[in-house]
Amino acid sequence: MSSAGVDLYEVLGISKGASKDDIRKAYRKAALANHPDKVAEAEREDAEVRFKAVQEAYDILYDEEKREIYDAHGMGAFNGSGEPGMGAGGPDLDDILAQMFGMGGMGGMGGMPGGPQARKPRRSPNEEQKYEVRLEDLYKGKTVRFAVTKNVICSLCHGKGGKERATARQCATCDGQGVRQVLRQVGQFMSPSMVTCSTCSGHGEYFIDKEKCKKCKGKRTSEAKKMLEIYIPRGAREGDKIILEGEADQVPGQEPGDIVFHLVEEEHETFRRAGSDLTATIDVTLAEALTGFSRVVVKHLDGRGIEVTHPKTPGEVLSPGQVLKVPGEGMPVKRGDARGDLYLVVNVKFPDAKWKPSAAVLEHLKEMLPKPDAPITAETVDEVEYDPKGNLDDFGANDPEGGSAWEDDEEEGETAQCATQ
Ligand SMILES: [Zn+2]
Ligand SMILES: [Zn+2]
Repeated sequence: MSSAGVDLYEVLGISKGASKDDIRKAYRKAALANHPDKVAEAEREDAEVRFKAVQEAYDILYDEEKREIYDAHGMGAFNGSGEPGMGAGGPDLDDILAQMFGMGGMGGMGGMPGGPQARKPRRSPNEEQKYEVRLEDLYKGKTVRFAVTKNVICSLCHGKGGKERATARQCATCDGQGVRQVLRQVGQFMSPSMVTCSTCSGHGEYFIDKEKCKKCKGKRTSEAKKMLEIYIPRGAREGDKIILEGEADQVPGQEPGDIVFHLVEEEHETFRRAGSDLTATIDVTLAEALTGFSRVVVKHLDGRGIEVTHPKTPGEVLSPGQVLKVPGEGMPVKRGDARGDLYLVVNVKFPDAKWKPSAAVLEHLKEMLPKPDAPITAETVDEVEYDPKGNLDDFGANDPEGGSAWEDDEEEGETAQCATQ
């Protein structure tokens, strides 16, 4: 297929003076654009031809020795294999795919036992991780900078894994496919399944020790430190994803995946959140509940004191569990000025044992406070003893059917009904 007249520089769309880096970049671009898996069915055959041409151009131009021969003698010096003077046939598309994308062409091009798990992705995997955020930061928004250590394509060999002039050897274990078929026991049957070849780490080829890249020792990637920054928008919530595109580990021949942070909201000691609303419990003394107050009842997530004046109408008292709804003091809503509401739940603090009122004071209070309802009348009256510190957890706990009076009350109710009918 390589005709003597073809201009390899033209195939890659570069100039005669292009650097190795230019060649590599042009190759990546052209190879991806002409990848047979990425074009419509009808164009596939043409794409395969172009794809092979791009691969051949790269093989020759990226290798300094071959590039010199080509520049001096043109394609006539090559015989179609990209190897001057060697008589092998043209490169096999499957091999090319295996080299480029760490997969056999078969995965993408028409089925083979083993199924989709045998195919390697053309994008390195995303890195998913949890990211715990304080409610304060979700309220105000926050920028976080941090250092990561990640695998990047080796800068010395550009992901080749070998020295500049070295040629990789095809892996004999996997026939250059990068994957091997093994038999796995599934139930009582042996079922074929594909695994990454351990000899070549799935590359389908390898370099002998003395030809390995000095920097990455043939691994094709090396570790690098990088500063990353994420922005947590105000109003973000649990489960939101923050994506750093292309920042996952780099894998030669693959587009890098993303780092994906899944936000997890830390529990807050004062506020609870539901959507864009917030709730908090406020402590109010019995005297305040009865006579009113005007003070800061809670410190908001941005540090502001939230002041409440009660009552608005003279004489109104606060009851335990009463809810004061403060419009617009909830969480901000993402990408907008709207805010949820704040629900303040009143906890009336009754006097504790330290309060030692005199009999006269109590008598006075009794006189001032509302009188009790009319007494309950009954034919017989028993005065009983009691435990002043009873606990509702004990309620139903002695039930022989498991003390599950709370959970199973529907079924129990039915049984009880049947029994009484
Ligand atoms: Zn290297
Ligand atoms: Zn192998």
